[in-house]
Amino acid sequence: MRLKEKNVLITGAAQGIGRAIAIGMAKEGANIAVADLNIDRSESVAQEIRSLGVKSIALRLDVSAQKEVLSAFETFTKELGRLDVLVNNAGITKDTLLLRMKDEDWDAVINVNLKGTFLCSKEAVKLMVKQQYGKIISISSVVAFTGNPGQINYSASKAGIVGLTKTIAKEYATRGIRANAVAPGFIRTVMTEAISEKIREEMKRSIPLGVFGEPEDVAHAVIFLASKEADYITGQVLHINGGMYM
Ligand code: NAP
Repeated sequence: MRLKEKNVLITGAAQGIGRAIAIGMAKEGANIAVADLNIDRSESVAQEIRSLGVKSIALRLDVSAQKEVLSAFETFTKELGRLDVLVNNAGITKDTLLLRMKDEDWDAVINVNLKGTFLCSKEAVKLMVKQQYGKIISISSVVAFTGNPGQINYSASKAGIVGLTKTIAKEYATRGIRANAVAPGFIRTVMTEAISEKIREEMKRSIPLGVFGEPEDVAHAVIFLASKEADYITGQVLHINGGMYM
C-alpha cells in the first residue's frame, strides 16, 4: 500500500492509460478522482475503484476549458480534501503532415495536451503550495524526443510538457512540490488502435524488446513516481518504451 490515503486527481482517466493508472493507484490505497470528458465512463471507473475499498469520485472535465478546471478542482477539494498527486494524462491526436495541418487541428491538440496540463498544474500548485507538499506527474511521449512524421502538433505538445515539468520542478521545489513526466512509447489503447496493421508491424520492429507496451506498464512508473520511494526525484522524464528510444 505505497499510496495509502493519498488523494489523487487523474485527467482522462475514463479509459486507456489513465484508467490503468487510476486502478493501479487505488490498489496501492489512494483515493481517486476520475476526471474525464465522458461522465458516464468516468462514473463507471469510479464505481470499480470504490469496490477496491477506497474513495473515488467522477468529475466531468474538459482540461482545455479554464472554467471547468476551476470547478473540477473546487469539487475535488470539497469531496476529498487535500490534493497529494495530480496526474496530467488527458491527451488527443489529430495527425497529418505539416503542410496539410489545419490551424484548428494544431490548436485543438495544443489546447488539450499542453494548455490543459498548464491549467490543471496551476490549480494543483495553488493547493500544494499551501500544503508544502505535492506531486505532479504528466504524460509526455517518446515522440517529444524523436519527432514523428504526421504528428507535428502532438510531438510539439508533448515536448512542451517536458519544459513545463522541469519549470514547475525548479519553481516549486522549495515548497515541497515534485514534478516529473513519463514518456511512453507505443502502448496498446484506443489511441493506437487506429494505426494501420502495416505501420504497427513497422513500429514493432523498431522496439528492441519486440512487443508493444500495456497501459499497466505506464501505470507502474506513475505509481513509483507518486510513492515515497521517489521523493528525491524531480524534473525528470521516465521513458517507458521497450527500448524504442534510449
Ligand atoms: P485514450 O485511450 O484516447 O484515452 C484518453 C482519455 O482522455 C479519453 O478518455 C478521452 O476522452 C480523454 N480526454 C480527451 N480529451 C480530453 C479533455 N479535453 N479533457 C479531459 N479528458 C479528455 O488515450 P491513451 O492511449 O490512454 O493516452 C493517455 C495519455 O497517454 C495521452 O496523453 C496520450 O497522449 C499519452 N500517450 C499515449 C501513448 C500510446 O501509445 N497510447 C503513447 C505515448 C503517450 P474521450 O474518449 O471522451 O475523448
